[in-house]
Amino acid sequence: MGANNHILPKDFEFNKETFVTLIEVLPGFIYRCKNDNDWTMLYTSNQVKEITGFSSEEINFNSEISFNEIISHEYRLYLHERWHSVLKSRGVLKEEYKIVRKDGSVRWVLEQGKGVFDTEGNLKYLDGYITDITSLKMAEDRLVQKNIELHIAKERAEEGDKMKTAFLANLSHEIRTPMNAIIGFAEMLKEDDLEKDQKDSFIDIINRSGIHLLSIINDIIEMSKIESKLIKPNYEEVDVDLLIDVVYKTMYATLPEDKSLEFRYLPPDNSLEYKISTDPVKLRQILSNLLSNSIKYTDNGYVEFWYEISNKTKNKHILFYVKDTGIGIDKTYKDEIFERFRRIESDVKSGGRGGSGLGLAISKAYVEMLGGDIEVESEYGRGSLFKFSIPLILCSRTNRGTELIEKEFEMNNQMRILVAEDEDTNFLYLSALLSKFHHTVLRAVNGKEAVEIVKEDNRLDLVLMDIKMPILNGYDALREIKKFKPSLPVVAQTAYALSDDEQNIRAAGFDDYIAKPIMKNKLVTILESITKHL
Ligand code: ADP
Repeated sequence: MGANNHILPKDFEFNKETFVTLIEVLPGFIYRCKNDNDWTMLYTSNQVKEITGFSSEEINFNSEISFNEIISHEYRLYLHERWHSVLKSRGVLKEEYKIVRKDGSVRWVLEQGKGVFDTEGNLKYLDGYITDITSLKMAEDRLVQKNIELHIAKERAEEGDKMKTAFLANLSHEIRTPMNAIIGFAEMLKEDDLEKDQKDSFIDIINRSGIHLLSIINDIIEMSKIESKLIKPNYEEVDVDLLIDVVYKTMYATLPEDKSLEFRYLPPDNSLEYKISTDPVKLRQILSNLLSNSIKYTDNGYVEFWYEISNKTKNKHILFYVKDTGIGIDKTYKDEIFERFRRIESDVKSGGRGGSGLGLAISKAYVEMLGGDIEVESEYGRGSLFKFSIPLILCSRTNRGTELIEKEFEMNNQMRILVAEDEDTNFLYLSALLSKFHHTVLRAVNGKEAVEIVKEDNRLDLVLMDIKMPILNGYDALREIKKFKPSLPVVAQTAYALSDDEQNIRAAGFDDYIAKPIMKNKLVTILESITKHL
C-alpha cells in the first residue's frame, strides 16, 4: 500500500517541506537501509541521536557503527528472520526489541518498516521508523509485576480462607467432642445405680474433657492476640533450672495413666550458674507445648528433654531439645506443622488425639518473639526431635547452689486459709480440696469481706483470692491487705488464664498465681512452697 493510496484533502500538497517538518516532530527516527547483515543505513533522521546516542553521521554507511551492532545481541538473529518473512510476504514489520545505546544503557524500541521494491519486483531497500518505548515497557512490566503480586495475594487470601474454614470445621468438631462428653456423662452421673468405678470413670472423663476444652479456648485467644500484635515479651531474670523443674513437675503430674511412657529430664553436667534474661511465662509455655505434644503423640517408649549452651555462633544461645519415640512426622509436613491451624490429616484420621492445631504456631511465634528459632527433625513412625533456641543473655548469679532441691509432694503442715470467692461452685470445689489435706478453710464472698476477715483474724496463713469479685475486686483487696499485713501470702486464683494476665497478676504483687479450673497438683505445689516460707 503506497502513500498515493491514502485519501488526502483535495487542496493538500504533500511536498518536501511537509515531509521535513514531519520528520522533525516525530517522536522517533526514520531510516532507509540495505537488506544486508549490517542493516547498512543509507539515511537516518536526526532523532536517531536521541534514541541511540549515535549521530546520523556515525551510523550512516556504517562509518562508526552498524545498526546491527546497536541491536541487543539476543534479538539480532530473530530480527533477520522476521524481516525475511515480512519481505517474502511484502508485509509490514512491527517488532519490539532492545538496543544498547552509545553510553551502554539498554532501551526498548519499536520498529515499523517495509521493503521498497522496483517495478520488476526487486527489493531496493528497507524504509521504516524506530521509536523509544522504554517507559511504556517499564510501565507494562510494573503492571505485570503488580498483577503477579495481586495474583499471589489473592491465592494467599484464598488459601487463608480455606485454612480458616477447615480450622472452623475442625474447631467445631474439637469443641463438640469434649462438650458432648461433659454433657453426656454429667447426665449419666444422675443415675442412681452406678458402681463406684463407673462413677469415677465418668467424672474422670468430664474432668479431662473440661481441661481439654479450656486449652482449646486458651489457644484460640492467645493466637488471636499474637496475630493482632497485642503480645510482647516481658523480660525478667530467669533461673532456667528452676523453671525447668517446675515444668517437669507439672508435666509429670499430668502424665496420662493409660500410657507406659518414661518421662525424663536430662540435666546438664554443669547447670547454669547465672540467671538469664528472657520471658519466663513464654519460655515455660513453649516447653509445655512441645512436651505435651510429645506426650500426646507417643504411646510407648519415652519423652525426654534437655538443654545445652551453644557457642557455635557469635551470639551465644541456649538450645532446648524435646525428644520422643512417638508416631513421628512425615518430612513433607516438617514446616507446615508450625503454621496456624495446621494439623496432619492422617493424624486426625488415625488417632483422634485432639487439638486445635495452634500449639506449634503459638510456640513458634513465642520463640521468634524471644529472638530464637524452632525446628523439628523427624520421620514418620520414628519419633521426633523438636529443637529451639533463645539468646543467652546472662544476668545475676542464681542464689542456690548448682544442684536443685529435689522434693516429694508432701502436705504435712496444716494451714488456716481464707478463700475469697463469690461463686459457690468454685468455693465448694476449693474447700473440698483443701479440707482433704486437713486445712481450715474460711470464706469471703467479695474483696471487702476478705479485707475485713484478714484484719480480724491473726492466725491466717494464706489467702486464695479470686480476681473478679463484686464490691471490691481481687487487685484492690490485695492492695488493702498488703498495707497492713505485707507478709501474709496472697495467691491469685482466676479464670483469666492467659500469659499476659499472669504477668499482670504477678506485677500487682500477688505471691503466686493459680489458673482456674484449679488442678490439684498445681494447688499442692503452691501450698507447699508457701509452707516452706512460713
Ligand atoms: P495440635 O493441637 O494438633 O497438637 P500443634 O500445633 O501442637 O497442634 O501440632 C500440629 C501438628 O503437628 C499436630 O496435629 C501433629 O500432627 C503434629 N505434631 C506435633 N508434635 C508432634 C510430635 N511430637 N509427634 C508427632 N506429631 C506431632
